[in-house]
Amino acid sequence: MQKALLLCLPASTQLCRVSYAADQISTAAGPVTVTPIQHASFTLTAGGKTIYVDPSPAALFVGKPKADLILITDIHADHMDAGAVNELSGPGTKVIAPAAVAKTITSAEIVGNGETTHWNDWTVEAVPMYNEKRGPAPGQLFHPKGRGNGHVLTYGGKRFYISGDTEGTPEMRELKNIDIAFVCMNLPYTMSVEEAADAVRAFHPKVVYPYHYRGQDPAKFAQLLSGTGIDVRLRDWYAKS
Ligand code: ZN
Repeated sequence: MQKALLLCLPASTQLCRVSYAADQISTAAGPVTVTPIQHASFTLTAGGKTIYVDPSPAALFVGKPKADLILITDIHADHMDAGAVNELSGPGTKVIAPAAVAKTITSAEIVGNGETTHWNDWTVEAVPMYNEKRGPAPGQLFHPKGRGNGHVLTYGGKRFYISGDTEGTPEMRELKNIDIAFVCMNLPYTMSVEEAADAVRAFHPKVVYPYHYRGQDPAKFAQLLSGTGIDVRLRDWYAKS
């Protein structure tokens, strides 16, 4: 069941899309259903197959339907959880991940930044996700360029962008023809709400879901994009926290 919207504050009420049907994305190959789970974890379901993005932590996935495809963006615990992968894996499950993740999730097909692979009717392109300036200590970055993968997925002519953990990099700003975007925002690890809104303005997806926003105010993000024509979809990504 889809949780109802819990984040439609008065200032952004006009930006909220209330109905469950709003999360059915129409494509030439049939609908894609978007289901937030928690923080960076969600599913895309289409044609009877389910893609899990960054399933974590494992406890949330006990008894869930097996995955057809699991995409893992990076090595941190809110994205990579071997127990969750184990919980969701059946005989037909495929895992796609960067090399750093495959050291732990050894069943993964390795795809690196700039590489493209195909799975069923989906095209999976790995794109950069990284910090430009933020890190745990001077001279270090939380997410060095090249380690993790953002993704651009194509299905039925629609393009889905999944940012992973990143700042508003030039590569993000230069994305073209994105229909649906999932964009992170949390400090100190990725970027501020203001930086995220600025980057989203630059590549101008038709629809954007703020996700991975623990500690931030996604309604403020929606306000900052008011009047741009970008459909900001606020969902509760922390109901299970
Ligand atoms: Zn993260």
